[in-house]
Amino acid sequence: MTRVAFIGLGRMGHGMAGRYLDAGFTVAVWNRSRAKAEDLIARGAHWATSPEDAAIDADAVVTMVADDEASRAVWLGKDGAAANMKAGTLAIECSTVSHAHALEMARELTGRGLIYIDCPVTGLPSAAAEGKLTLLVGADAADLEKAEPFLKPLGSTIRHFGSVGTGTVFKLINNLMGAVQIASLAEGLAIAEQAGLDMKLVAEALSTGAVASPQVIRHSPRMAARDFSSASFTAALRHKDAAYAVALAETLLPGVPVSRAAVEAYEQAKAYAPDDDEGRLIEIVSQPKQGLDRLPHSRKMRWLSSRSATMTAPPEGSEHGTENLHRRRSWNDRSADPPAPAWPQRYRADLDRSGEAEGNLRPQGHHQPRRRRHPLPAR
Ligand code: NAP
Repeated sequence: MTRVAFIGLGRMGHGMAGRYLDAGFTVAVWNRSRAKAEDLIARGAHWATSPEDAAIDADAVVTMVADDEASRAVWLGKDGAAANMKAGTLAIECSTVSHAHALEMARELTGRGLIYIDCPVTGLPSAAAEGKLTLLVGADAADLEKAEPFLKPLGSTIRHFGSVGTGTVFKLINNLMGAVQIASLAEGLAIAEQAGLDMKLVAEALSTGAVASPQVIRHSPRMAARDFSSASFTAALRHKDAAYAVALAETLLPGVPVSRAAVEAYEQAKAYAPDDDEGRLIEIVSQPKQGLDRLPHSRKMRWLSSRSATMTAPPEGSEHGTENLHRRRSWNDRSADPPAPAWPQRYRADLDRSGEAEGNLRPQGHHQPRRRRHPLPAR
């Protein structure tokens, strides 16, 4: 019987591994935490003690883990799958990883005589469990042909973009565009909310109008009703995908300002509620400006500056960025005054010197005057 090792049993991987059982493969599974494997074991999967253990004697190893770091760990880490795979075995990366990482894994694994293909997917966890994913493949044609029996249980739509890495390029632009659409939707809905529109009607009109992409159709009613039950794609994953996409874009294009703005929006959503539904971005964006207008000018400025500082000043995941977001979250209940900003230490001296004078709350050097790249032509 054909043997497959499946590594990573999260929301997506669990359903995908089940598909191989349904299709009659001999399946070895490994996940960092064993609990997620129990029902698959009850259905006939063999529990492996490590990725390496799972991969021994497998005809194909399929991975579906969170990100670059997790992927590196399960392929090349201590007890990683690559340690004991026989030459010619298929190494199928279904996780969404960065383009640079996909190419690095291809080099490492083909260097060991394995066949690496990148095969990120689109579709929700329900589609994963039903074998209805769309597979976005980067592989030589001959390698894809060998991999097809292992791809068919996962989904019947296979899009082959070219050589290794190209499936990942497409997946990243797809999810980056999703990030832009969802971030823009959050702002549009927030405007409607703060203007007092009937949000049920707004959501319905957006979902049936000219901007009704599948993302808008999915997220409009959920955001409007603040219904984030059964999260399928989290803020942390959306941020990861958009950031990987922008990293790729920066190697190819002079600038991607809209995409960068979406990454910043998801940086905030990730700091706010990393493992919750990506749609909770609306809770950060939809703030009552009228409430601010009732405040004394100095407090209003401090609040707005704290928002701006969180957007641009503290590095990702920094203590101060997170602190500001937690403060902002408590402001969401609208029962308290806006919280004072938590300034990064390096800005505090400037603030102390300025005495927090109105209009002088921005960290010095924060806003540099714009310089023209090229002098204007003489008239
Ligand atoms: P998930 O539920 O959070 O699962 C993540 C998986 O990665 C879990 O098995 C987790 O193990 C494992 N993992 C994380 N860090 C690890 C590490 N350092 N070492 C080993 N294993 C590690 O995420 P998901 O929604 O299934 O997504 C998995 C991949 O599919 C991601 O790349 C995501 O971008 C992509 N994707 C997701 C969707 C979706 O709708 N959710 C759709 C298309 C593609 P534990 O269980 O022990 O935490």
